Amino acid sequence: MGVHYKTKEEIELIRHSSLLVGKTLAEVAKLIKPGVSSLELDKVAEEFIRDNGGVPTFLGYNGFPGSLCISINECVVHGIPTAKPLENGDIISVDCGVYKNGFNGDSAYTFKVGEVDRETQQLLRVTQECLDKAIDACKVGNRIGDIGHACQKHAESYGYGVVRELVGHGLGKDLHESPEVPNYGKPGRGLKLREGLVLAIEPMINMGTKEIDQLNDGWSIVTQDRKPSAHFEHDVAIIDGKPEVLSTFEYIEEALKIK
Ligand code: MG
Ligand code: MG
Repeated sequence: MGVHYKTKEEIELIRHSSLLVGKTLAEVAKLIKPGVSSLELDKVAEEFIRDNGGVPTFLGYNGFPGSLCISINECVVHGIPTAKPLENGDIISVDCGVYKNGFNGDSAYTFKVGEVDRETQQLLRVTQECLDKAIDACKVGNRIGDIGHACQKHAESYGYGVVRELVGHGLGKDLHESPEVPNYGKPGRGLKLREGLVLAIEPMINMGTKEIDQLNDGWSIVTQDRKPSAHFEHDVAIIDGKPEVLSTFEYIEEALKIK
């Protein structure tokens, strides 16, 4: 499958969808606390997306039953929303996709539920730093391997595991386009980064082993050692040779401040 490089107009449509994802995640952020279920969060997100003229991309994608992927503690990604209440000390990755005006947005944030231990707080901070470093590498003159290398180097300096089997991706009319964007790699390897490339970059960083299992619900990916995993995702376009982040955590951070 070839890579679709986007025009400025197409990038603006992706930005619009990405911002709606950010606003949806902020609505979810307001509600996250012990006792709330991930299914309740999913319903709120679906309603908010539809009220804003979007379609939840994940709902029905390969048969996925939710509008959000909600992945708790040792669950890396692809967790199914359930009626089980969240508990104090949990971390939850909330991954959201929106389709609007023919283009997708796709972003994820890992939230704390109540008070989280310091070791886990560090995992969250470092995973977000991995995302920032990966984004910085997203420029003309670099290659795909430089993105993954920046992420992997930072994560492994803390002894964390970088998941191999799941990767970031191109983004546009389809949720998952070429190229794949691994969170590990060698500098100077892989596809050359060009103007108009739009990528969803999404480090999945494990506190312990990089190895994963899939649960028999057919979706949930969990760490093999059942230690926690964190996940943050931004949509990034290469404009004027440099990375421009199309999605945002600003609405989320605003909502968390008010809480
Ligand atoms: Mg996502
Ligand atoms: Mg994605």
